[in-house]
This record gives sequence, C-alpha cells and structure tokens, in this order.
Amino acid sequence: YLELKGIRKMFGDTPVLNNVDLSIREGELVTLLGPSGCGKSTLLRCIAGLTELDGGRIMLGKQDLANLPPRSREVGMVFQSYALFPNLTVTENIEYGLKMRGVPKKERLRRCEELLALVDLEDKRGTYPQHLSGGQQQRVALARSLAVQPKVLLLDEPLSALDAKIRKNLRTEIREIQKRLMMTTIFVTHDQEEALTLSDRICIMNKGHIVQDGTPEALYSTPRTEFVARFMGSYN
Ligand code: ATP
Ligand code: MG
Repeated sequence: YLELKGIRKMFGDTPVLNNVDLSIREGELVTLLGPSGCGKSTLLRCIAGLTELDGGRIMLGKQDLANLPPRSREVGMVFQSYALFPNLTVTENIEYGLKMRGVPKKERLRRCEELLALVDLEDKRGTYPQHLSGGQQQRVALARSLAVQPKVLLLDEPLSALDAKIRKNLRTEIREIQKRLMMTTIFVTHDQEEALTLSDRICIMNKGHIVQDGTPEALYSTPRTEFVARFMGSYN
C-alpha cells in the first residue's frame, strides 16, 4: 500500500538515507527502531514531503508522491515535541487543517467532536495547549493529524517526551485507535520495549539503512546480526 523504493537522501556529502526499501500493507503498524542519527526522522519527513529526496520512489496506492506538495499527500504526522499552535484552543488546533482545506464550520465542528471523543479530551475542547499535560498535548496532536483523514499516519517518537507511566498508557491508546481506524502507520522509536509491544512489524535501522525487517517475534528470536540482537535486547 505504501511502497518506498531505493530512497536516498544526502546532507552535504553524507548519505543519511542509503537505498531504503520498505513496503507497508494497508492498516499495518510498522515501527522503525534504530539509534539516534540513523535517519528515522529524515525518512518520515521524506514521506510527508517536508524533505526532498535525492533518489528513489514513494508510492501510496497507485499514486506517486514525488510531485505532490505536502498538503496533497494525505499523510498525517505527529512530532516528538508537541507542535501545537499555542495561541489556539484544543478545538481550533484540531480543526486547523480542515479550515485550511475550506471545510465548512459545521462539518469541522462535527469532525472535532468525533476526534475529541476518540482521544478522550471532550472536557478540554476550549483549553489552550499550555494548560494541558504532555500526554494530553500529544493526544491533541494525534487528533489534529487525523482530522484530515490521512491515508498514512507518521508518528515520530510521539511518546519520548513523556514520563514512563503516561507513556505506557498512551502507547496502548494509540495502538487501539490505530487498529480501530485501520490506519496505515509508521511509528518511530528508539525504545525496543515500545516497539515489541506495539508493532505488527519492526524495521531495524542503522546508518541510513534497514538492516532487518520482520515481526517482533522473529526479530527477537532470530536476529540476523549482532547489532539487531543488541537492539532487540535478545543479547547482552
Ligand atoms: P533521533 O533518534 O535522534 O531522532 P534520527 O534517526 O531521527 O535520530 P535524523 O534526524 O533522521 O535521525 O538524522 C539523520 C542524520 O541526518 C543525522 O546525522 C543528522 O545530523 C543529519 N541531519 C538531519 N537533518 C539535517 C539537516 N537539515 N541538515 C544536515 N544534516 C541533517
Ligand atoms: Mg528523529
């Protein structure tokens, strides 16, 4: 459904993505797991159209994303640090993308109410981001990215700024929402426990490359390299 073929990206003379191939089925949650600097965020940014490719192809269904601007890509993204608009309320943040697309007010509010229920924030609709906890802010960010009904959801370490307990609750919640919507999702993390509990499939990334791709069980029990083994925690 989402097909990445031979993705390459250079920053200056340094290849940051080096022939990344990845295909994801509709409704699947694939985790990218890898050390800091291995290119995870860059890969997501390429899919979202926030960074230009130096080579390769990205297909979503039958559509080649190469020539589509970010707004036309039907890709939603949630970032590590909450990128909410501080001067807008929860509702206004969520409906922002719909407003940009000219969706009428009544329809926007109807969508907002659905999303507020989905992320369990109905009592916060008029609140400004600074009065929300980190976990609540990320739930707003999730609702905002889902508002425009994307075909693909990209989650770039959405939990890493949160403390342990909230992180665990929210990851379960995200997985439930993802399954309920059958949303095709790429989830980025460097937390192997998060990856193991959340994913249909895990791709281990290192130095701009996917080194192994498989189910959590397969990667844990039969890592192909020592690097994978160490990353999956099946080797100490
Ligand atoms: P982390 O887990 O720390 O978020 P990451 O896997 O998301 O890491 P990226 O943010 O994709 O890593 O960065 C990959 C490499 O590309 C890093 O070496 C980084 O320094 C470099 N890089 C990223 N963005 C730029 C940029 N705009 N200009 C130059 N180099 C960049
Ligand atoms: Mg990153």
